[in-house]
Amino acid sequence: KGPSGPQGFVVQPRRLPKAEASVRVQDFGEIIVKPTTENVEVQAGRCTDCGVPFCQNACPLQNNIPDWLGLSAEDEMREAWRIASATSTMPEICGRICPQDRLCEGSCTLNQSGWEAVTIGSVEAFIGDTAFDNGWVEPIRPLHERAQSVGIVGAGPAGMAAADRLREQGYQVTIYDRHDRPGGLLIYGIPGFKLEKRVVQRRTDRLAEGGVEFVLNCEVGKDVTLDQLRDKHDAVLLAMGVYQARALQAPGAGPGSTVAALDYLIHQNRRDLGEQDGGWHHAEGRDVVVIGGGDTAMDCVRTAVRQGAKSVTCLYRRDRDNMPGSAREVANAEEEGVVFEWLGAPKALMSKGGSTSAVRAARMALSEPEFGKRRDIVPVPDGDFDLPADMVIEALGFEPEAFAAHSPELSLSQWNTVAVARGGFATSLPGVYAAGDAVRGASLVVWAVRDGQDAAAEIDRYLKAQAEGVAA
Ligand code: FAD
Ligand code: SF4
Repeated sequence: KGPSGPQGFVVQPRRLPKAEASVRVQDFGEIIVKPTTENVEVQAGRCTDCGVPFCQNACPLQNNIPDWLGLSAEDEMREAWRIASATSTMPEICGRICPQDRLCEGSCTLNQSGWEAVTIGSVEAFIGDTAFDNGWVEPIRPLHERAQSVGIVGAGPAGMAAADRLREQGYQVTIYDRHDRPGGLLIYGIPGFKLEKRVVQRRTDRLAEGGVEFVLNCEVGKDVTLDQLRDKHDAVLLAMGVYQARALQAPGAGPGSTVAALDYLIHQNRRDLGEQDGGWHHAEGRDVVVIGGGDTAMDCVRTAVRQGAKSVTCLYRRDRDNMPGSAREVANAEEEGVVFEWLGAPKALMSKGGSTSAVRAARMALSEPEFGKRRDIVPVPDGDFDLPADMVIEALGFEPEAFAAHSPELSLSQWNTVAVARGGFATSLPGVYAAGDAVRGASLVVWAVRDGQDAAAEIDRYLKAQAEGVAA
């Protein structure tokens, strides 16, 4: 099996084709570079085909990882693509941006036994890229057209995955998005060094070429109402994500003194897409402090490094072991020169001459561990300190915004996400479904893809039942 034989993992160490930090911070290109076919064969050949695919169980899409690894090790890329694309509408995207250390690779038998996981994500991205390069990615060509139509609110991964599957079935699909480009956070949130924009665009292009209609710059709830969409379409899918940024509660904080993480990332993404700089936020030559410890904070610090900031510090109130961001992203940020100020809680924003000059923070300590409880944080007496900052970015996470298109009959959960029936995607409104972050709260792309695909299957059943005049 593979060029290294069945025990490939013993002789071949794990090798991820990652660019050196000093090189990769020079631009916004992906830091995982495309491996050679030979390298992919060697790395895929490290899979032991252990017979108990923990990797597959840990993958939200239940991807058939051992099979496509085995085929890649034997340079059977086209067959590997056929299998990889059967369970996922965007393998080359998930292969790039899943936190594999927490999902498939974290559960790999090799990882569990101290041999380091197979580079599953990188092989998956390679299979997808090879398929696009060789024209193996089939256009969407439904076997027969159906008259019924589905309106999707949100062109992020959940909406895209659902559109892909529904259009395949021949439904007329329209996606409404308030942005000027489709892709959701794939295009305007996640930076190019994790996911280059061309990779997202070729997916959205494929949907458009397959007959999916995009209505952009259209905010549902403002430019069109949910009721209008329900009148126009036979079913509606709400996949509008979560966008209400949690605000920093500290004296001196607020618009003008801080920058919102998503605004900052959108500006750099627009530059990457070739747009003219519209006076957008830029960190060049500045002392930047990013407040927060999630993946959005990691994306901000690493963007600031690439923009040429004088210094970049991540201020987080808990310690490394208790931060929500992926350990892999923290390691990447550290390699790129980001300083982490753990156990520091922002207390106030200081200013000089009308501009922000520093963040005052309280030194925190973890409370004594208690069974079944997350350790609390408590301030250390006389532990205040100042971090010089002339640019402060708030990256404290997101909550559902008051969705302007809500009908009073659309039930919400206690977290203000859209409530759906247990084990499915149906909302309290007949014919209206919901998927992705809008239901889960801030989550992962791979879960949005899974939800989008499964919601499409449920909508398909509903529409077929409607067409036949029976209840779904
Ligand atoms: P979204 O991608 O948010 O898409 C929702 C779409 O709906 C958007 O295009 C929005 O414009 C549109 N919309 C919203 N309201 C309306 C309205 N009223 N009318 C019309 N359109 C509307 N996950 C990972 O797996 N890996 C990562 O590395 C990663 N990095 C991230 C980095 C950042 C900065 C952020 C913020 C998130 C990251 N995530 C990552 C999480 C991931 O991006 C989301 O979980 C995923 O995009 C959710 O998909 P979605 O389709 O549900 O929503
Ligand atoms: Fe791993 Fe994500 Fe690919 Fe599943 S989709 S195999 S979790 S990288």
